[in-house]
Amino acid sequence: MNVGLITIGNELLSGFTTDTNSAWIGQSILEVGAEITWHVTIGDQANKITAVLDQIPEDIKVVLVTGGLGPTHDDITQKTLFEYFGVQPVFDENYWNILNARMVKRVRVMPVINKNQAIRPDKGSVIPNNSGSARGLHLNNDRMDVFAMPGVPREMKDMMSSTIIPWIHDKTKSKIYVRTLRTTGAMESVLAEKMADVTEDTRPVTVAFLPQFTGVDIRLMCPEKNPLIEIEGKIRDKVDKYIYATGTVDLEEIVGDMLSERGYTVATAESCTGGLIGHRLTNVPGSSTYFLGGVISYSNDMKMKTLGVQENTLQEFGAVSKQTATEMAHGARDFFGSDLAIAVTGIAGPGGCTAEKPVGLVYITLVHNDTVWAKKFKFFTDRKLNNRLSSQVALNMVRIHLLNG
Ligand code: AMP
Ligand code: MG
Repeated sequence: MNVGLITIGNELLSGFTTDTNSAWIGQSILEVGAEITWHVTIGDQANKITAVLDQIPEDIKVVLVTGGLGPTHDDITQKTLFEYFGVQPVFDENYWNILNARMVKRVRVMPVINKNQAIRPDKGSVIPNNSGSARGLHLNNDRMDVFAMPGVPREMKDMMSSTIIPWIHDKTKSKIYVRTLRTTGAMESVLAEKMADVTEDTRPVTVAFLPQFTGVDIRLMCPEKNPLIEIEGKIRDKVDKYIYATGTVDLEEIVGDMLSERGYTVATAESCTGGLIGHRLTNVPGSSTYFLGGVISYSNDMKMKTLGVQENTLQEFGAVSKQTATEMAHGARDFFGSDLAIAVTGIAGPGGCTAEKPVGLVYITLVHNDTVWAKKFKFFTDRKLNNRLSSQVALNMVRIHLLNG
C-alpha cells in the first residue's frame, strides 16, 4: 500500500527540530506491507495544508499527518482538516472531564486554552492518546483516509502502534519481513565486495546498504520469511565478524550483555572522547553491574596524577601515542580494580596537530588479564565525528576481544 505523509511545523522547516517522525513512520509501516511513497514538510499554515491535500497523487489513498494538534495559536491542523473534510466540531464534555480529572491528580488547574483538545469531529473518529492530551483524528471522504497525530514523537508513536499500524495491516493483509544486520569495522565498499556473490541474486529478498560513519546497516526485506533467513545465512557466511547486532540494538547494549554474561567489569580512561565511551555504556539500563567508572584525563597532568602515566612516556612519545594509551589503560584498571580497561587518546581536531601527528590520529588500548591490545587509527578531520568514531571503535574492540576470549 502506498501511503502519503505530511509533517507539519515551522520548527521542521527552520531546522530547529529534526524530523525524526518521518524516519520512524517510514520504517515502522514497512513491516505491515505499506510504504511512504510521497512526503512533504510544511509550516503551520492552513492554506499550505489544504494545498498539499489537493496535490496528493492519485495512487495514495491513505495519508498520515503529524504536528499542529496542540492547544496553542499555531496549532491549526485540526481546524483546517475539519474544514477540508466538511466535518463539524463537537465539544466532548466527557473527555474534557477526563482531562480535568487528570490535572486534579497533579494538583493543577487545566488552562482554558486546552478546551480545543476536547473537540471531536461529528463524523470520523478520534484516536486515543495514552501519553498526552491531544487526541489524534481519523477523517475520510471518497478520496482518502487521513490520520492526524500530534508532533510529539512519543505521542505519535503511541497512536501509530495502538491504532494506525493495525488499521493499515488490516487493509493490506500483506506482510513484509524486515531484518536489519548492524555492522561496524568495515566500509560499505568492503562489505559490498565481500558479499558480491550473495548480492548478485537475492530474489525475492531486497538487500540495501545503509551506511553511517560508525557502521553500515544491511537491511533485508521480503514478503516471506524463509528466503530472508536463507539470505541472512549467506551474508553471515561472508561478513559475520562485522555484524554486532540485529534490529535497532546499539553496540553498547551488545557489549554490556557480553560483559554481564561473562561476569566481567570494565573501566575507561578517556582523553579526546571526553567521557563519551562511559556515557554510552551508562546509557544502557543495568550497566552498574559491569561498568565501574571512568577517568577523563584530558590534561597531561591528570594523565600522570590520576592514571600514573609516566612523565618520561609523555615526553618521549607524546600524549597521543600507543605508549600513553597503554599506560592509561593500565592506570584505569589499577585505579578501579576492573577486569578490563579501555583507554583512548587522540587528536580530535581541528587544532593540536603536528606533521607527525595529524588530526584524526587516535590510539586505543584494551587491557584484560595478560592481554594488551593497542591499536592506531587515522580517522577524519571533524572533531565530533572523530570522537563518535573513537567511541565506536573502542566498544567494538571490547566486543571482538570478548568474542575471541
Ligand atoms: P506539535 O504537535 O506540532 O505541537 O509538536 C510538538 C512538538 O513535537 C514540537 O515542538 C517538536 O518538538 C516535536 N515535533 C513536531 N514534529 C516533529 C517531527 N516531525 N519530528 C520530530 N519531532 C517533532
Ligand atoms: Mg507544532
